[in-house]
Amino acid sequence: MKHRDISEADPEVYKALKNEIERQETESLEMIASENFVPRQVLQAQGSVLTNKYAEGYPGKRYYAGCEYHDKVENLARERACELFGADHANVQPHSGTTANVGIYGKFIGQGGKILGPVLSHGGHLSHGHSVSMSGDMFNFEGYPVNEETERFEKEDVMEAAKEHNPELIVCGFSAYPREVDFEMFREVADEVDAMLMADIAHISGLVAAGVHPSPFPECDIVTTTTHKSIRGARGAMILCKEEYADKVDSAVFPYSQGGPLMHQIAGKAVSFKEAMRPEFKEYAQQIKDNTKALAEGLRTHNLRMVSGGTDNHLVLVDLKEEDITGKEAEEALEEAGIVVNKNSVPHDPEPPQVTSGIRVGTPALTTRGMEEKQLEEIGEMIGEVVRNPDSEEVNQNVKSRVSELLEEFKLYAGSEVDY
Ligand SMILES: *Cc1c(COP(=O)(O)O)cnc(C)c1O
Repeated sequence: MKHRDISEADPEVYKALKNEIERQETESLEMIASENFVPRQVLQAQGSVLTNKYAEGYPGKRYYAGCEYHDKVENLARERACELFGADHANVQPHSGTTANVGIYGKFIGQGGKILGPVLSHGGHLSHGHSVSMSGDMFNFEGYPVNEETERFEKEDVMEAAKEHNPELIVCGFSAYPREVDFEMFREVADEVDAMLMADIAHISGLVAAGVHPSPFPECDIVTTTTHKSIRGARGAMILCKEEYADKVDSAVFPYSQGGPLMHQIAGKAVSFKEAMRPEFKEYAQQIKDNTKALAEGLRTHNLRMVSGGTDNHLVLVDLKEEDITGKEAEEALEEAGIVVNKNSVPHDPEPPQVTSGIRVGTPALTTRGMEEKQLEEIGEMIGEVVRNPDSEEVNQNVKSRVSELLEEFKLYAGSEVDY
């Protein structure tokens, strides 16, 4: 076998990698609420020789020999995850949030079982029973809505849906919800209808790990999360639970929904969990929240309405129903000006999901770049200007040049040894 540098062995892929680092570094403000940038040490773990091994099974109980160091790495990831989240047990093998969720539904509830999750257009995720997802195909999902007045999940509405549908499992966890999740409230509802309670903290796990958002334990029985959003780790997912569910959770991942684990990704998860234990990460997570509040201030100067009136986490959901612009048009105008957000349905959206009447704007990635309240408030104002004047060449040019200055001032990988 001949080892060569990727630049020589595969110039086409190499060029795409080079272009991508350039794009991330210099082209736009990344404000997709589910994205982040990992540090070099996480990239190193992910690019390691751990990829070479089959490690089906769990530490100490593998189906293949030669897993001494894989056991070491997976145990580190599990121990750190338990410590970060106050869980009894962690399974760090899920390839993605979707497979983690579906594995739990299948193993704990079974095909056709009744599950209650958030209404998708009120902040839920495709893996909470949408018809285009296998979760919607295999399980009998019903939805609970946000409250008509507060646009938050309130006990009365969740209770009403729970009593009507009598689910075996309630899922609390959201992709586009700007408020703190009240796990105690969900527990009270689950107890009332004798259901299990699962939290899907994919978006907020960084905030939870840092202690700036309430923990889903001890209220929830099982907690799933991706590992690459606000927690800023290697791409993938994990499942946390109380001791009594540990064996069943493990079998829900392997062999029920996956084969061999991606051990290089698990190494990346372990390294990122160590990062998340540092005092600096707590400061980072608090800064995310402060930055999002500042972003909301900036948006308010243009009188843009936000779902629920504001935010107490890492994102805002701008409601454009009363404006002359759709979510899709706003997303496009902003991208043109160098600000990347995503169109997003808002509660009672008259537009279809491909168009929508909202945009979701998040701050974890820009906070990783080192931006603070001053910058985020200004960015909120710029977003307002673009949304109000989507066809103005002047606004577009002004915003674009200010975006370039910000990217230049708040570097990402430049100056480190990461070069693709
Ligand atoms: C992102 C997300 C997921 C799924 O993540 P994938 O890894 O993309 O499958 C699941 N649940 C919620 C709430 C999410 O936001």
